[in-house]
Amino acid sequence: MEKEVVSKNFIEQIIDKDLSEGHCTTVHTRFPPEPNGYLHIGHAKSILLNYGLAKKYNGKFNLRFDDTNPTKEKSEFVESILADVKWLGADFEDRLFFASDYFDAMYEAAIKLIKKGKAYVCDLSAEEIREYRGTLTEPGKESPYRNRSIEENLELFENMKNGMYEDGAKVLRAKIDMASSNINMRDPVIYRVARMSHHNTGDKWCIYPMYDFAHPIEDAIEGITHSICTLEFEDHRPLYDWVVRELEYEMPPKQIEFAKLYLTNVVTGKRYIKRLVEEGIVDGWDDPRLVSIAALRRRGFTPESIQKFVELCGVSKANSSVDYAMLEYCIREDLKLKRPRLMAVLDPVKLIINNYPEDQLEYLDVEMNLENPELGMRKVPFGRELYIDREDFMENPPKKYFRLFPGNEVRLMGAYFVTCTGFEKDENGNVTEIHCTYDPETKCGSGFTGRKVKGTIHWVAAKTAVKAEVRLYENIIDEEKGVYNEDGSLNLNPNSLTVLKDCLLEPELAKAQPYDSFQFVRQGFFCADAKDSTEDALVFNRIVSLKSSFRLPK
Ligand code: ATP
Ligand code: MG
Repeated sequence: MEKEVVSKNFIEQIIDKDLSEGHCTTVHTRFPPEPNGYLHIGHAKSILLNYGLAKKYNGKFNLRFDDTNPTKEKSEFVESILADVKWLGADFEDRLFFASDYFDAMYEAAIKLIKKGKAYVCDLSAEEIREYRGTLTEPGKESPYRNRSIEENLELFENMKNGMYEDGAKVLRAKIDMASSNINMRDPVIYRVARMSHHNTGDKWCIYPMYDFAHPIEDAIEGITHSICTLEFEDHRPLYDWVVRELEYEMPPKQIEFAKLYLTNVVTGKRYIKRLVEEGIVDGWDDPRLVSIAALRRRGFTPESIQKFVELCGVSKANSSVDYAMLEYCIREDLKLKRPRLMAVLDPVKLIINNYPEDQLEYLDVEMNLENPELGMRKVPFGRELYIDREDFMENPPKKYFRLFPGNEVRLMGAYFVTCTGFEKDENGNVTEIHCTYDPETKCGSGFTGRKVKGTIHWVAAKTAVKAEVRLYENIIDEEKGVYNEDGSLNLNPNSLTVLKDCLLEPELAKAQPYDSFQFVRQGFFCADAKDSTEDALVFNRIVSLKSSFRLPK
């Protein structure tokens, strides 16, 4: 028998090696968002990667809010992040942490470094520190405060904590190497004085740790074994290693970098999305045109589709962009068999069957999803007056148009064959109603084999149709094509939202609850809008159309 070869990604290879060499005995990962915005599809990759590794190795996964920077945090963001991580299926159980809970431990860690002669209080201004730091080609210059005694440093650092200095007047710096070829190692600042209230610790602290110092400590405290982050932190790894080594943690965590996920045709950067939200261009962080997780959920994407997408993207060390069409492929594949295929007319025009009894309404039995009998059957009302989509009729059709035109016969999906006998127009030349006759022999499911027709169109019965608003989307900004116009305004796609107000749906769709999705036959996948759809005024978002030229790479 052939053995299935499962290739491991580079992170799994590192983990395997660490386990076999005894650098760790278990696998413990984390996702550490800063609560300063909503999570997006790139974060989903990081979440599912970290969670997936923990699961695969029978380890643990933490959700940790990286809330050490008191300026931008908002509880709205904490709430949204919690909801998004849960929705994605990354189960952090009771392992929810806040980095700000470790401020005391971080302060103690700083004292430990001072006592080891590995940190000093520096009086240089921010400007001077920058000057002294040197450049990529020139080494840095040592601060005149670098050789303060341990006692003096301990006293000054305590004074910093006790609020005796103005913001920015003094900082604590790691004492590493001003001549290092890595600028991050040139005595980086690890604590600063900043009088800012913190959402968790209030006014307890007027000194706050810098990210590069705080993050490894957070990981070490939680027993993280593999601290997975994105490539821009590669140059910070020596500092990460320095911090965990100097603080003498027993099983120090290891930082591993992977390439960020970029998507074509969309915008993920928080500052751009923030601007769209703040200028009222979009309907909040969950506007279905965005690729925040909340927006994707509202648009109708499922956790499974995003999991599949992330899996297809793989993990790599090289930056690249993934085609948005691949995300669309994943949601189509996910919904194709799972969800009912129902009839919806987006641009209705009336179709009258002249030989059908006037007040008769019959209920046809139609499969919910032809390809998945498990979804069962539904009753679809059929009557003398129907609506069809305007584009399914043409007065003067081109060759190979197989839908309705005078004299032509088509199949009404799930119902009968009808032949177009005429139509009426208004003074502007718009078709107002189409007339036809039906052949009772041709009822769907009756086994009729007398003749074939080339076209099948969808329809809804006028008497029982349910009105709805349908929203069609295109992406709003393309980060790759440029976010800004020359004058600094945002380079928006004018067609990002099309609202169709007078759509008519088969009555089955009246039951749609928020986030319920459906295939509207021949048109695409649609989802009941969680914010705006109500029982009396249905609103559907188009998740994705049915057609695609996207093919999975072999
Ligand atoms: P943004 O660039 O949107 O502001 P961020 O990196 O500042 O995002 P954080 O809250 O700091 O947001 O990120 C939390 C985690 O998500 C980090 O580990 C970060 O590396 C990871 N992450 C952020 N963006 C991406 C992405 N595009 N692809 C994969 N991982 C990402
Ligand atoms: Mg960040």
